[in-house]
Amino acid sequence: MNHSKSFEAGLDPLFRLYTQRLRREAGKKSRGPLPKIDRWRLETRIERLVEIARDSELRAHGRATFDQAVLEKRQWHPKRGKGWGVDAKKQSFRSWYDKIIYGRNCVYVFWAKRKCLYVGRTGSGGRRPQAHFEKYWFRSVTRIDMYVVSGKRKLPMAECLAIDLFNPAKNKVRSAQQKWRRRCPVCTKEVQIRRKLKQLFPLRRKR
Ligand SMILES: [Zn+2]
Repeated sequence: MNHSKSFEAGLDPLFRLYTQRLRREAGKKSRGPLPKIDRWRLETRIERLVEIARDSELRAHGRATFDQAVLEKRQWHPKRGKGWGVDAKKQSFRSWYDKIIYGRNCVYVFWAKRKCLYVGRTGSGGRRPQAHFEKYWFRSVTRIDMYVVSGKRKLPMAECLAIDLFNPAKNKVRSAQQKWRRRCPVCTKEVQIRRKLKQLFPLRRKR
């Protein structure tokens, strides 16, 4: 099922539930009490719809918006003749970084083969990639992608989009990113859709 069909398949039962009283008032024959709206079920249904809309936005515009913000992509491989041990790798990375990336704003992505482990950014509020070389999961890293971003102001958005696109396993709960999310088109869409659905299907109201 495509996104818009799944969205409608989720929306229709909610609409029917919320118009029960109205339809009875208009003459629909039906016995028994009006079905109750249970908070947990309502929230689950709304979140499912939010997820569908978010995924649709991500697929339609996520990659393109991310690519627009990126000037250049560079890759570094920790396992190819970079010496043994964390210190040797840090040093090797640092000299590569100084030569290729220098002070530019970057979103970086750590990969273990095809699995994304971590997304971060340099610049204000961000940490240099080497800060993560000490993490327990660093041993499995096979590649670091560095995306040079055009301009500091796009950095938080590009980081949020990278998280949305690559779904890193080791990023903590997104509280630190929360304030930036409104700049990300995918997360903005999520917030708008949730707000709209909660307006349409409020928990406490006569139906
Ligand atoms: Zn986002």
